[in-house]
Amino acid sequence: MSGKIVVIGSANTDLVATVPRLPAPGETVIGSDFHITPGGKGANQAVAAARAGASVSFVGCVGDDDFGRQRLEELRRESVDVEQVRVALGTHSGVAIIMVGEAGENLIAAALGANAAVGIEDVERVRDLVAEADLLLLQLEIPYESVCHALRMAKQVGTATILNPAPAPSRPLPEDIWCRVDYLTPNETEVAELARHLGVPSVDEALRRLLRLGVGTVILTEGRQGARAISAGLDLRSPAFEVEAVDTVGAGDAFSGGLACALAEGRELEEALRFANATAALSVTRRGAQASMPPRDEIEKLLA
Ligand code: ADP
Repeated sequence: MSGKIVVIGSANTDLVATVPRLPAPGETVIGSDFHITPGGKGANQAVAAARAGASVSFVGCVGDDDFGRQRLEELRRESVDVEQVRVALGTHSGVAIIMVGEAGENLIAAALGANAAVGIEDVERVRDLVAEADLLLLQLEIPYESVCHALRMAKQVGTATILNPAPAPSRPLPEDIWCRVDYLTPNETEVAELARHLGVPSVDEALRRLLRLGVGTVILTEGRQGARAISAGLDLRSPAFEVEAVDTVGAGDAFSGGLACALAEGRELEEALRFANATAALSVTRRGAQASMPPRDEIEKLLA
């Protein structure tokens, strides 16, 4: 039975130019290749979960422009419900301008645009949708106040939550939200930042502190090592699947999307971790973020 997931988050358009080397300030470097790809952690995770087999609603904002319309069109094609996406007037759709050098080094300027307009009213508008869902999935590319409001609302209506604290938070989140996070999915950089905010010297102490503050389960993603789940009385390691990694962009998004899909279906944690690792492993075998998210049958084949 497919689970129902609501994602409240960001949608972006990534404008990617390949250049022989990254330019210095004021310099022009002539590039060789350019492409446009859909991005934004919210939309990436919505697509990951939908391809993995979940029934997904995406909630966010786009601008009244071509990029916004294209992103919505693509999400629809992925069978993601975008009924509750708002077109924010007076701003542009979120974009990231990315330069990639020949050695793979990059330079990114992100302009949040409409993602910054996702407000508390947008969250309130989907209260019933969240109440009917099995799971609410959140990231940190929309205003923190809206993320926090969504977590509080989810607990009022009794819906489970996953917070993927990415990008690493630039400032501490209010302490009362931790007890409203059922699953927290940081990578190693993000957990180090959380440790800094909590004023503790090590990752292990940060994990203990987060659990004491009320997080249900912390699921730390460890790249090619896989993932580690920690909760009261539990420290579970789930190894990564061995694959030939081509491009790890979007691996974290694939993991959180896959995890959300598995948990929304009612799978046990251990099984859900394997499912998430399989989703993410397949995503690193292909280039791109949304484009690399694997369909359900491939995930099941890898799991078998
Ligand atoms: P992020 O992409 O946010 O930096 P990680 O690097 O921790 O996050 O990767 C997320 C997940 O992607 C891992 O937990 C793992 O399941 C999968 N993954 C990442 N790199 C590899 C790899 N080289 N081989 C197999 N799986 C990988």
